[in-house]
Formats: sequence, structure tokens, C-alpha cells
Amino acid sequence: MNCSDKKPDDKIRIVATTGMIGDVLASCLDTQAIVQVLMKPGVDPHLYKATAGDVSLLLNADIIVHNGLHLEGKMGEVLKKLSSKKIVIAMSDQLPMHQLRKIDGAHDPHLWFDVALWTTSLQGVLKQIKRHYPALIEHSTVRISNYVQKLYALDRHVDSTIAIIPKKRRILITAHDAFGYFGRAYDIQVIGLQGMSTLSDFGMNDLMRIGDLIIQNNVKSIFVEMSIAPRSMEALLHNVHSRGGAVNIGGNLYADALDSPNTKAGTYIGMFEHNVSTIQKALQ
Ligand SMILES: [Zn+2]
Repeated sequence: MNCSDKKPDDKIRIVATTGMIGDVLASCLDTQAIVQVLMKPGVDPHLYKATAGDVSLLLNADIIVHNGLHLEGKMGEVLKKLSSKKIVIAMSDQLPMHQLRKIDGAHDPHLWFDVALWTTSLQGVLKQIKRHYPALIEHSTVRISNYVQKLYALDRHVDSTIAIIPKKRRILITAHDAFGYFGRAYDIQVIGLQGMSTLSDFGMNDLMRIGDLIIQNNVKSIFVEMSIAPRSMEALLHNVHSRGGAVNIGGNLYADALDSPNTKAGTYIGMFEHNVSTIQKALQ
């Protein structure tokens, strides 16, 4: 299907499931495209269910871009149905399988935490969009090139900032396993109290196991995630304190959602800069 014969005043409507996807697409694409985001700031994508309003937004879209690998676990059926009548593209489908993290037989969906990997996914999605709307991508060439340069600069910035933390203190403990790609890309050990999806819960064994690790390694700080209630990390804090250990909350990290638009962490790059600066200051 080639849709480049659309009238010039016709906007191409793109609906992205998460803010991380919507922001990178909006940063790349010419104003001929309108990018809308389904999930509001701070929303947990693992638990998100499409509302009636979402379904009509999706039905009016020309292109739907989602993360894939079951990040949008409760939207699977809706996306599957739409794929028979809409252009539906997954960020994860743009990557070779061997680059995906696999834990207990399931692929880790939190791809955006490796900037280089996310950039490759973005470029793959833009290539898919070009097949259907070549004029849009041609008009966006300069924007795409400028934004990709910013992403490469971000990747180098994250790398050099994490490298400031002494190697033995590079242990990142968060509420759920969202930072696996981050750890792999930027050489920091990552531990999540809950599993890869926030649907899984944690038990006393998990608290004791991670509490032991904190005490043995003198970990200074653990981190709360913005889109998850802080009770899990508070339970871990109490566990360590009750055994005479000393650990604090090092700050709030954005894991599976951006902040509100027009705030610093309302963009993919701003969110990353906030996280990396928070981690470096707390662990250094
Ligand atoms: Zn997650």
C-alpha cells in the first residue's frame, strides 16, 4: 500500500502506546504527521487496559506503533485485531532476536533503556513508515538526522556518567526488572524486587535475598519508580534497617512512563538525563 497520494493538507495520524515511543516519533517527524500517545504520564503499561476512547483513537489512526514483547500485556487482543485493518508496527520487531534479553524464557520488553538499541528500533519503525508514506519521511530527513545525533550524544553521556561511579558501587536496585537493558549497555548490575512485569509480586524471600545483598555490598541507595507505588521499596528499606543495615532511597526514577509533557522528564532524552543524574549522585 502506498498512501503518498494523500492530499497535502491531510495529516497522517500516528498513535503510539507509550510516551517513550510517542516522543521519539514526534521528535523525528515533520508536522505533516500528528503523533498521539495512548497512555498518560506515569501510567504502568503492564497493567494498562484500552478504554473505549482509546479504541476510537486507534480506529482513527493511520499508523499504530507499540512496544511489543508483551509490554502492553493487556492490549494484546486489541492490537492483534487492529493489525488486520491498520498499519501496526512494533518497536521490538525492528531488532534481531539475539539483541533481546531473555529471562526465564520470556523476552524483556524494556528496550528503551539502551539508547543505541532504541535508536535502532526507531530507525526501523521510520523505515516501515516510509514504505507507506514516503513523502512524510523525505520531508522529515533533516529532523530525523538531527534527532538521531542527539540520541547518539545521549548514549555517550549515559556511558560516561555511569562510569564515574566506582565499579564496586555500580548496583542499581529498583522496584521491578525494568533496567536490564540499561545494566547491560552501561555496565551496572541491576536488581529488581518484582519480576519483569509489575503483575508479579514479591515475597519475604525476595526481601531477605536483596536485603542481604545490600548489607554485604554496603549499597548506599535504592530507587523508587515513578509509575509504581513506593511500598515495595519501603518494605526493603525496613528489612535492611531492622537488621542494622544502612540504606536510603536515592531518588525517584522513571521506568515505564515519561513525566507530563512540558516538564523536563516529559521527553525521552529528559527522562534519561534525570535517571542517570539521580543514579550517579546517589551511588557515587
Ligand atoms: Zn516494566
